[in-house]
Amino acid sequence: MVDLIGLLYSIVLGAVITSFTNVVGLRVPRKQSIVTPRSHCPSCGHELSAWELIPVFGYLALRGRCRGCGTRIAPTYPLFELLGAIGYGYSYSLYGMSATTLLAFIFLSTLLALAMSDLSTMLVPNVILRVTAPVLLVLAYISGADWWVPLAGAALGFAILATVFFLSKGGLGAGDVKLFTMIGLVLGPRDVLVALFLASLIGAIVGIGLMVTKKIGRKQPIPFVPSIALGTMLTFWFSESFFDWYFHLM
Ligand SMILES: [Zn+2]
Repeated sequence: MVDLIGLLYSIVLGAVITSFTNVVGLRVPRKQSIVTPRSHCPSCGHELSAWELIPVFGYLALRGRCRGCGTRIAPTYPLFELLGAIGYGYSYSLYGMSATTLLAFIFLSTLLALAMSDLSTMLVPNVILRVTAPVLLVLAYISGADWWVPLAGAALGFAILATVFFLSKGGLGAGDVKLFTMIGLVLGPRDVLVALFLASLIGAIVGIGLMVTKKIGRKQPIPFVPSIALGTMLTFWFSESFFDWYFHLM
């Protein structure tokens, strides 16, 4: 039985941290400060007051529109905050008060910041990876990884994506190569393959869905990082129990 206070705290923390990583994902690729100016409407400059900044609920109270000028606020922000809240809560329910939970929190938040950055600018800023990768590596070891697992995972993630990068001649960004190196660091060699498989599957479904509904043209590039983030977190949470189940069948 998971303790409710810890769970509730994790959910709120997930929403709050994600409203911060949303700002990081919007501003860092544009080389803007993440501290100043305070959050404001890009259309009219209306500065958000404290209650308007409350994750998810602020958006609902405003009915998705700016209080100053009525411009629609992208639903991506509250959606990400909701995903962050669920992800933090779920991680806590799985791993309790442990280094693995902290690893899951920072891993998820890094992926959400990069997904937001990719959605808003099609960029994967190096600086975000540079700041989080060492922390993730240390936490992976503290939560019990064998010494070679993060290294082999990072090497494999890098090798596969770099190969695809050179073969596809621009179909894949250099950012995706660095991102999968970081993912391999956390997931290890087996699961980086699982994550790559899931990310490609999700990316293909999203791409086909967008084309069928005519949301995008055939040649238009689609941000891939949101699919990578989803496939990666599903792997992080479920791969161990999936393989346990699978090998029990055999
Ligand atoms: Zn406005």
